[in-house]
Parts: sequence; structure tokens; C-alpha cells
Amino acid sequence: MQAVTTHHGKQVALVSQNELRDPRTNGDYVRAYCHIHGSDHQRSLSIHRTSGWGHCFNAGCNAVVLVAEWNPNVAARMLHASTTGNVYRRPSSFTFATERLPLALQPVLLHAPQPVPQWQRHEQTALLALEERFHTALTSSRRTQAYLAERGVPVKVAEQTGVGYLAADMVSHYTEAEQRFLVRRWAARILFPLVSPYGSGYIGRSLWQWRPGMHEKAHKELLEHANGPRRWIKTNPAGWFCAPFEQLASSIILVEGAFDRLALLTAGFAPTEVVALTGTALQIDWLPPQVKTIVLALDGDQGGLEATRRLADQLNNEGFSVKICPPPQDRWGKDWNERWCQIGSESVWPLRKTCSALRSA
Ligand SMILES: [Zn+2]
Repeated sequence: MQAVTTHHGKQVALVSQNELRDPRTNGDYVRAYCHIHGSDHQRSLSIHRTSGWGHCFNAGCNAVVLVAEWNPNVAARMLHASTTGNVYRRPSSFTFATERLPLALQPVLLHAPQPVPQWQRHEQTALLALEERFHTALTSSRRTQAYLAERGVPVKVAEQTGVGYLAADMVSHYTEAEQRFLVRRWAARILFPLVSPYGSGYIGRSLWQWRPGMHEKAHKELLEHANGPRRWIKTNPAGWFCAPFEQLASSIILVEGAFDRLALLTAGFAPTEVVALTGTALQIDWLPPQVKTIVLALDGDQGGLEATRRLADQLNNEGFSVKICPPPQDRWGKDWNERWCQIGSESVWPLRKTCSALRSA
């Protein structure tokens, strides 16, 4: 066991699965006797199997634990930070507050995700089982090709990042009514694979009633005013549209949208250096230890600029080197995809300049 204190002053016991005493699986959780306060009366340690986060229900202990093998990225990040000393401080002794915190303030609740409802787990499984078909459908659907072309993205680039298309007729692949029902809301959507410590997921963009030549804004209005399906939907867990965490580069560019990432990859940026948040908050604990520098390239509208200021503060506090590079305030659009469609390779010069300065630094 290794004790680490996070930047926010939370104490976490980093444990190995071998240390768990007589663990028993119970649904999504593993229960074990708590080796931290040393009780063999009750399995008071409860750990989420997917995220590795858990805590001890014993009021006098309240330990927050992370099982390293079940969440190696976060464990590595915490260890790395505690040894380099710039993010996490290692306490001299490992003690927990004796008074019980109100439920909402218990540190583990800030990290561990809410249990995923059963229908969402089934939805994720049903979608994963169709993955190969999505990929084939992306390259064979003329409609998807036309849509990607209008967003300035070659099919090849989309294909290489695992993007797919759930054609309406793929729903009938399932003979069970429940699965058909679950995947139906994903029909006629472009699917982007998402990465998170809790598993993989998808975000899907509806192409409902989209026709070649229809501008992005016109389609958005059509979906909103014609009682159409939601423009974007996500699985639970969701996550970021990016390379697997362990492959991320040491400098990464953070953008908001899935199509912003595709535009930057089309412009020649590497898949390992561009991360699209796709509406999922930046969880600093998710960043793997090799990431040192973050280029914030969120949207140039008010929301994006405010988020940039907030994230820059947080990331600086956590010891990251931060560069701010929003899309310029001109008439070519508030995000990288829009600008890419309007002015092509000229649109990415601010990012190229920022990144080449980083490389030569
Ligand atoms: Zn305990």
C-alpha cells in the first residue's frame, strides 16, 4: 500500500489487488475485509470493479482506496506525481480523519462514478457487438461520405480513428426486442468511440433528414424545430474521443468537438496529440503520467473562453505546462472544424505555431 495525498488534500491509499483480504464479488463491486484499519468482522471495503475506486464504510476508517491494477493509468499518474512532488504530496504518516464526513463530502464520491443503470450497460454491450458493422457501413454509405466531405474530413481519416456509422437497417441485426429497442436511438448516426478509465463508450451525431448540400447550421435547426432526434447522444460511460490514454503524446491539444479533432488530424496533427472532450469534463486524474503540456484549443465563443480560463488555472495548479490557443476572433468560425471548412490549412496556423514553439523549446 502506498499513501498519497491529492492536490485537493484528499488522502488515497493506493493498494494492490493482492492486498485485498478475502474479496467477494457483488455485482459491480468487490467487498473485502479492510486491511487498512485491520478489521476482520465485516467486509467494509467496497471497490468498484471497473474504476478501481473504493472506500471503507467503517466510520472510524473511511479510507479511500484505488486498486492499482484495475485503474493503472490513474494509479501511475498519482504515483508519478507523488514522486516528482509537483502535483500530489505524500504525507509523512498515513492517517484518516476520525470524524465521519457528511455523505456528500466523502472524497471517494468525488471520484467514483455513479453506478451505471442496467439499460445503459446493455446499450453499451449491444453497440460494441455491432462495432465491426459500423466500420464497414462508414466506408460503404454514400450519405456518410457526403456528410464527412462537407465537414472537410476524408473517410480515411475518420476510419483510422474508429469512427463508424449505424445504418438504420443494422438495428434489425438484433432479433431480441430489448436490444433492438436499445440501439434504435443510434440509427442513422455517425459514431465516435470514446475512451475513459471506466471502459469504452460512444457519442453519436444524428444524420436524421440530412441531405447533401445542407449546411451544418440548417441541419441543427431542422433537428431542433422539427421535433427530430437529439443531435448528439452518448453512452454511459462516455469519455473523450482520443487515442488510448497510454499512447497519448507528452504535449496534447484539447479541443471541444469530435469534428474539431477530425479536422486537426486531416490537417496533419497526430492522433496521439489531439483529444476531443466531446462534452465530458476534463478529469485531471484521467491524464496519463507522460502528459506534461496541454494546449487549450477550445471553442472561441464565450463558453469556450471561460472554460479555457478555468482549465488553465486548474492545470497550472496541478503542475502541467499550459498553452492557450483558442481559434482567432475573426469571421471564419468559432471552432476548428468550421474554420477548416472555410479556409482550409490556413485555419490551423495558430496551432502549428504553438506546437512548433513547444517542440523547439
Ligand atoms: Zn477500513
